[in-house]
Amino acid sequence: MPDSTISNSPLPGLYIVATPIGNLGDISARAASVLARADLIAAEDTRVTAKLLSHLGLRVPMTPYHDHSDERTRAALVAQMADKVVVLVSDAGTPLISDPGYKLVRDARAAGRLVITLPGPCAAIAAITLSGLPSDRFLFAGFLPSKAKARADTIAEFAGLRASLVFYESGPRLGASLAALAGGLGNRDAAVAREITKLYEECVTGPLAELAARYAEATPKGEIVIVVAPPADGVAEEADDATIDTALRAALAEQPVAKAAKEVAKRFGRDRHDLYARALTLKGGE
Ligand code: SAM
Repeated sequence: MPDSTISNSPLPGLYIVATPIGNLGDISARAASVLARADLIAAEDTRVTAKLLSHLGLRVPMTPYHDHSDERTRAALVAQMADKVVVLVSDAGTPLISDPGYKLVRDARAAGRLVITLPGPCAAIAAITLSGLPSDRFLFAGFLPSKAKARADTIAEFAGLRASLVFYESGPRLGASLAALAGGLGNRDAAVAREITKLYEECVTGPLAELAARYAEATPKGEIVIVVAPPADGVAEEADDATIDTALRAALAEQPVAKAAKEVAKRFGRDRHDLYARALTLKGGE
């Protein structure tokens, strides 16, 4: 695929443009150049994108776009790509990554339009680089469900995966999500990366149970990515009694006592009968 953005006037088509996740200095020269020469910008929220355009000193026509925009809106955009430079942006970061765009790209491809991506900031990738956790294999899991049962089920799907796990999260849900992760995955190492590229950027690392305790009461402000290390290879995970209790509580929310005790005992190499007794105590205390 030739790079039409190198020439003076980009060819007509769809341009997927990543924008900063905080620090406006992270806009790439190529992204700024394509935005400047766009005929139309399809934006998740035109008010947010207007601020970026104003920072770049640009005035470009915009139209709102979401994946739940109706078929007609999408078809009209795809039609315009035949002879216009249509740029897709989201509020921040890389479009399509927990953001709108997939259906527009799908339909643009189906219609044979030129599709070009301009890569750039992405909070998931930035967090992986900050975390100090294995980066050779990772799964981007987006946002966890907010309801406890759906969240535990989703976490259980990832438990056996030999890869780091990356989740997007918000401050008010952070403590509950970390506790659920500790319960479902064991006390793995993890990182909470917050406000990346912004003034109060921080990356707090530690075992999941420790992070869950830290954020149980203190709700942090701003935008957050959680990164969790892969499971330790083939050996039962080490865990203190508090972690065992967290895992038992999570398992008890889903299963009968005997099954919950068996599962947690296997994961942590503990005695099944001991954990059965402990599970009964925890259940009795509810
Ligand atoms: N498309 C974006 C990207 O490429 O990262 C993600 C959009 S998603 C709707 C927004 C979520 O990304 C936030 O809730 C947060 O979990 C994460 N995020 C975005 N900016 C961030 C930042 N500066 N620091 C930490 N997390 C961020």
